Amino acid sequence: MRFEEKDYSISALGEFNDKNLEREFIAQYLGQNIKYMRPMILFLGILYWMFIIPDFFIIKNIETIISILINRTVFMMSTIVLYFALKKVKDYTRITYWITIYEVWAVILFLAIFTNYESPDFLIQAFGVMIVILGISQVPNKWINMVAAYFMICISFIILSPGYIIDIKVSEYYAGVVYIFLVLVITSMASFKSNYYNRKQYIYSEELLLLSNTDPLTGIFNRAKFNEELENLINYSRRYKTNFSFVIFDFDNFKDINDTFGHLAGDEVIKDTVDIIRNSIRKTDIFARWGGEEFVLLLPNTDREKAIELTERLKSLITDNTFASAADITCSFGLATFEENDNADSLMSRADRFLYTAKREGKNRIVC
Ligand code: GH3
Ligand code: MG
Ligand code: MG
Repeated sequence: MRFEEKDYSISALGEFNDKNLEREFIAQYLGQNIKYMRPMILFLGILYWMFIIPDFFIIKNIETIISILINRTVFMMSTIVLYFALKKVKDYTRITYWITIYEVWAVILFLAIFTNYESPDFLIQAFGVMIVILGISQVPNKWINMVAAYFMICISFIILSPGYIIDIKVSEYYAGVVYIFLVLVITSMASFKSNYYNRKQYIYSEELLLLSNTDPLTGIFNRAKFNEELENLINYSRRYKTNFSFVIFDFDNFKDINDTFGHLAGDEVIKDTVDIIRNSIRKTDIFARWGGEEFVLLLPNTDREKAIELTERLKSLITDNTFASAADITCSFGLATFEENDNADSLMSRADRFLYTAKREGKNRIVC
């Protein structure tokens, strides 16, 4: 698909409206970030566990200490499991589920400890809530999932506090609620911004990649991309013992067409011809502009006979077409089929020699 045809719009949830594009983005983004995500998660897990130290000094009841220690250790273990699981992941699109489950799990364990304390201090616990929000905000995830996790901890904490904290000061409670909500709003905005701009960045890098691979006049692959594809196809064919064919063609007497009808008309001829060919080849065939008015075609899994058949068809399509902007148009073709000892150079120079032969022998023909 061409770049302009894709829907690159971003929804109010900070996601691409196009579901496939969103999946591609998540796979690429999380794939890139997994390196720093794993140590980050491990760090947050260890940090959570280390809070057993202040707990130890604050809490007198040994049973409470043990239950909190179990809670913190369970979370630490979950973290280690996630840490290793993330290393094994191949399909990054599913990671967001696991991260979200992990975050909800963190919130539940946090609230469990809070309700376990003998006489929790409201403000200290409110700081804890803010830290959990900041922690969640550091782990890449879908924006809406992050916000759901923020809300879950804030709402539960605000509802649970009056029940578990006996001597809570009314003014402190309301101040705490307001501060928690401010952190929630600010963090949600920051998370949205990073989700939004990461997607913008993705669009720009896709656009840049496309620009570096395509020919601006015709929109098909350029020479650099073609060389890359040719190398891939050669490796593939060697490995799986399949064959493929290579076609190079050049417009006949194009200088005359430019001289007679003008360069712009010449450009139109090139574009029209490219459209004709693009519509007549398979999706897996690779079509590129080699330079000037010379083009190349890679036909995977196509032997000599089938390649001749296709090239004959393309030649007739071009010859039979009535071009709006110029006179009769013909092309000359050189065709070579990949052989065991071939490399990119030998294959292409063979086809190129055939093209020259076609020109010498009177043009508007295929030589192979
Ligand atoms: P031959 O049949 O031997 O190929 O003759 P030719 O006149 O086509 O000769 P050649 O292939 O050497 O010349 C290519 C000409 O095509 C010269 C150049 O000005 C013109 N050309 C190359 N690229 C473009 C382009 O993008 N637009 C236009 N309008 N002309 C181009
Ligand atoms: Mg020419
Ligand atoms: Mg030429």
